[in-house]
Amino acid sequence: MFNTLSDRLTSVLQNLRGKGRLSEADIDATAREIRVALLEADVALPVVRTFIAKVKERAKGSEVSQALNPAQQVVKIVNEELVGILGGETRRLNLAKNPPTVIMLAGLQGAGKTTLAGKLAKWLRGQGHTPMLVACDLQRPNAVTQLQVVGERAGVPVFAPEPGNGVGDPVDVARRGIDEAKRAQHDVVLVDTAGRLGVDEEMMRQAIDIRAAVQPDEVLFVVDAMIGQDAVNTATAFRDGVGFTGVVLTKLDGDARGGAALSVREVTGQPILFASNGEKLEDFDVFHPDRMASRILGMGDMLTLIEQAEQAFDADQAEAAAVKMGSGQLTLEDFLEQMLTLRKMGPIANLLGMLPGAGQMKDQLANLDEKHLDRVQAIIRGMTPAERDDPKIINASRRLRIANGSGVRVSEVNDLVNRFFEARKMMSQMAGRFGL
Ligand code: GDP
Repeated sequence: MFNTLSDRLTSVLQNLRGKGRLSEADIDATAREIRVALLEADVALPVVRTFIAKVKERAKGSEVSQALNPAQQVVKIVNEELVGILGGETRRLNLAKNPPTVIMLAGLQGAGKTTLAGKLAKWLRGQGHTPMLVACDLQRPNAVTQLQVVGERAGVPVFAPEPGNGVGDPVDVARRGIDEAKRAQHDVVLVDTAGRLGVDEEMMRQAIDIRAAVQPDEVLFVVDAMIGQDAVNTATAFRDGVGFTGVVLTKLDGDARGGAALSVREVTGQPILFASNGEKLEDFDVFHPDRMASRILGMGDMLTLIEQAEQAFDADQAEAAAVKMGSGQLTLEDFLEQMLTLRKMGPIANLLGMLPGAGQMKDQLANLDEKHLDRVQAIIRGMTPAERDDPKIINASRRLRIANGSGVRVSEVNDLVNRFFEARKMMSQMAGRFGL
């Protein structure tokens, strides 16, 4: 969904790469490009304005950290501001102290409410809850049947009005649904409501009446992220009408520009709780502002590394290491030094796990234990400075000497040297890719 925006932002930020210092003009130019990228992605104008103002102020301000180079600093600021407009902390579902928790779904027709009801029900079941669905969308001819199908797939019961009684009263169905949930001891009730193609008074009135009748713990406004700028208007209308406590974005798998996702929280002041990204029940996730921001910036958990590096490294050392990594000139001496610094930051497997591409190394990471690292340290310490500086000179007889000196097998020395070459290659590729 955010491909275009992501490409644009990545390239804007990459243009800063290699600059030793950023002038005001550099920052202004970067801010302008980010502004255009956001507007083209359909982000609402007031949101863009606030965002750009904050980024500029912070980039020019004195908070600038010694541990990062200018490009990294701007990446960090843009990332943090993105996380901010997406809501900051992950917002969890509010569960009632006295079950059942009642969750009401509201939104336009076609937004994906019914589908979401199934997804949410399945997800809740996975969390050990015993949800029940209540069909209050009596407007759309097929809505009740559709909810029943979805409920069956999710393996949860559906409370629906008996067929053959005319259209029925959704408020009454909602009330009876809650009673039934209490009786059958379901701990969460999801109330699906009717939407219209556009915001209209009668629909809003009905939603307000249902809300008053069932006193939900959460009202989730479901919005199709593909509808662009309209999402903001619809969200405002629902906020001022029935009101809501959280947002669910649907159709994030589409190829639209994604501005809705970036605007809705800032414009309505309500957090995004979940994201839907496909038609299948599994295509659904808790919304994490920080993960979404790094996805938009296309930098994976590299950003986390920036943060941790900032805490653990001193500025000169970090800069020197980054340059060496990028140019493929890392030596075993640097490697040892960095390993010692990294080990101060916590278990290595956690850190390596954050590197892009680390997914493929999962098995190796699982086997990585700290004792092994002690041996690696011992091997490197058993090398002469010349060997650490240029590991290529470590031939068979040197390997034997190092192995004997550090009390390990020759194969372990071989392993280390080979892996070092591989790692050096990977790091320099990565540094190129991320412009760091
Ligand atoms: P409702 O009118 O709000 O209840 O919307 P529905 O749940 O009936 O969804 C409308 C259409 O959108 C259906 O065809 C769904 O399959 C589809 N849909 C719902 N959520 C998603 C999603 O996250 N991604 C995609 N691609 N389609 C979705």
